[in-house]
Parts: sequence; C-alpha cells; structure tokens
Amino acid sequence: MPEEKVIPVRVALRCRPLIPKEVNEGCQQCLTFTPNEPQVILGKDKAFTYDYVFSPQNMQPEVYSTAVHPLVKHILRGYNATVLAYGQTGSGKTYSMGGCYEASLNEDQEEMGIIPRVLKELFQGITDKTESIFVVKVSYLEIHNEDINDLLCSPSKREPLSIREDVNGGIKLPGLSEVVVSSYEDTMSCLQSGSQGRTTGSTAMNSTSSRSHAIFTIHIEQKKKEDMDEYCHCKFHLVDLAGSERAKRTQAEGERFKEGININRGLLALGNVISALGDEAQKRSHIPYRDSKLTRLLQDSLGGNSYTLMIACVSPADSNMEETLNTLRYADRAR
Ligand code: ADP
Ligand code: MG
Repeated sequence: MPEEKVIPVRVALRCRPLIPKEVNEGCQQCLTFTPNEPQVILGKDKAFTYDYVFSPQNMQPEVYSTAVHPLVKHILRGYNATVLAYGQTGSGKTYSMGGCYEASLNEDQEEMGIIPRVLKELFQGITDKTESIFVVKVSYLEIHNEDINDLLCSPSKREPLSIREDVNGGIKLPGLSEVVVSSYEDTMSCLQSGSQGRTTGSTAMNSTSSRSHAIFTIHIEQKKKEDMDEYCHCKFHLVDLAGSERAKRTQAEGERFKEGININRGLLALGNVISALGDEAQKRSHIPYRDSKLTRLLQDSLGGNSYTLMIACVSPADSNMEETLNTLRYADRAR
C-alpha cells in the first residue's frame, strides 16, 4: 500500500434550489454564495467556508466530479471511503445520494445521484484494470432506534444485527446479507429493492421523511493476477443519514419522539468523531466511536487510511433558516 498523507474528512455544503412549495409560500432565499470561493453567507453576515460549496446552480454531474470522483480513485487503489449526506428532512440528502432509484434506472444522466455514478465509474475501473481480479459485494442496512436491520433480507426473516470487531479492528456484522454483484444493473436492482424496505414515518414536516440512517456498502476484493497473495479488501460506505431536524420542530410525540432522540444520538456522535479526527492534537488520543451504533459501524472507515466526504444539505428558504444554521454549524465543526 503506498504511503501518503490522508486528509481524513472533507466537507461539502450543498444548497438545493427553492422547491415549488417554498416558492408558493413566498419564501425568500436566505443564503448567498461568494463567487469563486467555497463560502456561503447566511442572512447578512454569517459566513461559513468549507472544502466545497455547491449552490442551487450546481447540478449532479458537477457535485460528483468535484467531490466524489476522487474517492472512487482511492477505492480502486485499496483505500476505504465513506460519503455521508447530512441535513434536515427535505434538504436533498436522498436526491444527492441517488435515492430517486427509479429515475436512476431510467438513466437520466443529468439527474442521476452519487450512488449510481459511483457504480458506473467503479465497474468501468474494474474493466480497465485488467491486471487484477475483482469480487464486488454489496450490503444495505438501516439503523433505526439503535437497531440494525438488513435491507437485503426479506422482512419476515429480519433480525436485528449486532456489531463485532475482529482482531485487526475490522468491523463485522454477522448475519448481514452480502450480495455478489457483477454489473451496474445488478447492483442497482439490489439498491432499489433494499430502498423499498426503508423505515419511513410521517411527521409534520415531510410525509415520507426518513427516520433512519441508511448505509449502502460496496465491498471490493482485489487480487493481482500475477501474484495471488497480493490481496486487498476495501469498503465504500454511502450513507443517507436520518433528518437532523430537532424533535420539537416535527411536533413529535411518543414513538416519533423516541426516534428523534436516537437519531440525534447517532448524529451527535458522528459530529464528535469527525471533529476529533480533524483535530491534529486529538488524533492519537481518544476518538469516541463507541457512543452510537452509527459511529461504531463506520469505525474502521472513518479516519485511519480512509477518506470521508460529508455533504451537508440545506434548503435556501428563509422559513428553514434555523435548521440551516444548525447544519452550517454542524458542518463547520466537522471540518
Ligand atoms: P431528504 O432526503 O433530505 O429528505 P430529498 O432528497 O427527498 O430530501 O429532497 C426533497 C425535495 O427536493 C425532493 O423533491 C427533491 O427532488 C428536491 N431536491 C433536492 N435537492 C435538489 C436539487 N439539488 N435540485 C433539484 N431538486 C432537488
Ligand atoms: Mg431522504
């Protein structure tokens, strides 16, 4: 494995356009974008700078080629990588990750999100790298109320999974389905069938809001044809996080409120881990992976020799200003 300096976490801010509902309600844009700089300004003067800033004018192909394409290069060289989409419900997480899976299958090149683009590039890379033999497997799970559910297993056979750590610090989930895939089409149909089983719940904010973290993982095993002992295995996690909105905002009660608390536990722990990774002084000391299932599960793919991209998604509407500020701050801390 070549030695190189790994920048563990990069942060992208992505602002979607106003959606028709916001336009109809007379919402105004509360974000402005500094030209030629990765900077966004909330209201009059709250400026935030990130590794990348994507305005409503930046389309899917640009987001992919700028921020995600470099990770696919690393993956093909044997490094782990993770892309996380963070933000309040309705901010564009699923759109960005490629959750309009039906549309993706229709191959709308402009609208296609990150996951299908990763798969296209990955399978092309595998075809081009004729000196190696590859085995690709995918798994798909969700974390809901700190339970881990296998999305590629039929609901009647689903049992909550537990996390194990092997002697080398690798994270394992005994019993999790890993499906061998050999093409883009194969993999997209796994993704689509798994997505249909995601837990959704209706809240005051969005009737199909996702209340769980969904993790789609591509496992890649690679062997050199000339030297079969030279073997490497890496993982690419693509994570559509649960909505980050505060519980009171969704008028949550009972079950929903409990979900809110667990969701925030994962997001809080994730923020703490990512911020600790970025902090040189803390690097060699304690990284609090154990504080949630989400961070525990991603433990061997956040930090170390792994590359992480967090995409913080926001709405430009002034009606969402409070949540947008929370997201800008969360993302700022991660950097
Ligand atoms: P989330 O997954 O964060 O709840 P969605 O991805 O479902 O949010 O996005 C909410 C709505 O906004 C959807 O109708 C989606 O199509 C639209 N949308 C999100 N991001 C964009 C974008 N960059 N360009 C155009 N429409 C978008
Ligand atoms: Mg979503």
